[in-house]
Amino acid sequence: MTPELYRRCPHCDTRQPANNFEPGRTICTRCHAERKAEKAKAYRARRAADLRARTPEQVEADRARVRPDGLQTCNRCCVALPFSAFAPDLRRLSGLNQTCSPCRVTRAQEKYGQLHA
Ligand SMILES: [Zn+2]
Ligand SMILES: [Zn+2]
Repeated sequence: MTPELYRRCPHCDTRQPANNFEPGRTICTRCHAERKAEKAKAYRARRAADLRARTPEQVEADRARVRPDGLQTCNRCCVALPFSAFAPDLRRLSGLNQTCSPCRVTRAQEKYGQLHA
């Protein structure tokens, strides 16, 4: 039995070498990757919408769950700070920005300096 050299992808409707298909998959590798990326994008959009749709009570409950010690570590200065040091960001589970407010100011100043040097 000789393996088939070409197969048709039903997704992009093109005939391609059989090695463009992973075993057991009916669509080509490229279509599979595209579909995966679309799904991931849809998932992220849905998740962001879900996060934004929370009530303040839900946000607080989620925050208490992910930050049980009442502190959050800034992703820039790497210091654990109380929640009051972070600006709100409802797209995150914690409901807080990941960079502390002083760092955000510093970053904004640096950006401004770069733009107007
Ligand atoms: Zn395809
Ligand atoms: Zn910081």
